[in-house]
Amino acid sequence: MRRTLIAALLILATPSIAYAQAEAWWGHVTILADDSMRGRETGSPEHRRAAEYVAGAFQRAGLVPAGSDGWFQPVRFQVRRIAEGRSSLALVRGAKAESLDFGKDATINLRSSSAGKVDAPLVFIGYGVYSREHGHDDLAGLDLKGKVAVVLAGAAPKGVPGPALAAGRAAAAEALHQRGAVGVLTIYSPHSDIPWERYALARLHPQMRLASDSTAHAGGGTVTVVLNPARAERLFSGSRRTYASVQALADSGAPLPRFDLPVRLRATVAVDESEAVSDNVVGLLPGADQLLKTEYVALTAHLDHLGVGQPVAGDSIFNGAMDNASGIATLIETAATLGARSTRPRRSVLFVAVTAEEKGLLGSDYFAGHPTVPEGGALVANLNTDMFLPINPLRRLLVNGLEESDLADDVRRAAGRLGIEVITDPEPERNAFVRSDQFSFIRRGIPALSLKVGFAVGSPEHDRVLRWRQERYHGVEDEVTQSVDRQGAEDFNRLYPEVVTEVANRTTRPAWYPTSAFRPETGSH
Ligand SMILES: [Zn+2]
Repeated sequence: MRRTLIAALLILATPSIAYAQAEAWWGHVTILADDSMRGRETGSPEHRRAAEYVAGAFQRAGLVPAGSDGWFQPVRFQVRRIAEGRSSLALVRGAKAESLDFGKDATINLRSSSAGKVDAPLVFIGYGVYSREHGHDDLAGLDLKGKVAVVLAGAAPKGVPGPALAAGRAAAAEALHQRGAVGVLTIYSPHSDIPWERYALARLHPQMRLASDSTAHAGGGTVTVVLNPARAERLFSGSRRTYASVQALADSGAPLPRFDLPVRLRATVAVDESEAVSDNVVGLLPGADQLLKTEYVALTAHLDHLGVGQPVAGDSIFNGAMDNASGIATLIETAATLGARSTRPRRSVLFVAVTAEEKGLLGSDYFAGHPTVPEGGALVANLNTDMFLPINPLRRLLVNGLEESDLADDVRRAAGRLGIEVITDPEPERNAFVRSDQFSFIRRGIPALSLKVGFAVGSPEHDRVLRWRQERYHGVEDEVTQSVDRQGAEDFNRLYPEVVTEVANRTTRPAWYPTSAFRPETGSH
């Protein structure tokens, strides 16, 4: 919907020195999230236009081009789209096949599926988590060869803490593959931030892999299906448990039974493949200290969003105003603030607008694997901001990763000076620390933090966040017509450069705490 101009005018109609940062920030948001940017899909001409806008803003801020090609670091992708007309899914019970409708009943996750046919019995394996250190193994004692494993998404077993969960799921997926399973059927969480209907629409967006990622092509004859929880009961009928009973157990983190289900999955997967190139945008503020300037603090925010999809109530553009034009706008304003100061930070600061976050953190993965720093330079920390949600005042700063590294000291010092309280994630079960671009740095051993406007569980502010997720997150309603808290936006944009300065000026190199589950085994960094 074309209401951009009106929203911009509403803001401009009441200019105020008190909100100078917020207004400059909002100016970038309205441009990047305008309908003409068509949702900034990775690889699209509009994403390139947005990247050029960011490069221009970095230049005006006084940054130095620091990509592999001027301001840009082009990244190559393999693009895959499901060809639903040539694909099919069915549940087979005895001689009776019951087909599943794409979108209504189920979707195929192309990230971990290969083209071909699978016809295999189902085995329910509960949470689908394997963590040796926490004594949890959902695969123990099961015959998985030639079977499709059924797991509950978004549920966590008691006793496996958040940071270990992502690793525990990845380890189980790897073990399933090694033990001959031919697929995974995930029952979508009935408690997800994103309702099934909105999630199912996303199946039509192209999925991507890094063209340089050779391991992504491994496998063959495997399929990952995601099932609407409203259809899950039909998997269990005729078995010794109902779906409702196992979901209820999972909701409390209780141990889950694991057993064969009396149905088979029959899947035919057809895929259309193509290629795309999309840019990371990289600007450098060189460090002032002769020794420390070879250490680089990477600031990231993702520029891409979901592009254009099926119309919902007449609108088909996923504008991504909060997700994540808001974070890019903060990156730009931080560059402007630091670039205008007479004293530069001691370490070098890289401003990186990454592509393909929505495709699985791919642009940041590529950057962290191929950092555009001169020889002898090293990335020593990452600060990320993704959808920091200034829909509430900034009384508390929510920091993901606060328990993991001594970057916590820097953020506390910066926030303390502005009288802002620093809090840990009040919703640890969402595993936000591994769900945005900071994870591309974390898994390479680089300490990282992600910052947002905070709230207390059960507060009116929390309600506002929950409502925002239900109504707008990854929906066409994440537009520039929504209202933001100007004071919250102002304060966040004032605080962020201070956090960056603290990290860039600290004496010692940032380090993981010895207790962190993310600390690399070698103990370096
Ligand atoms: Zn995002």
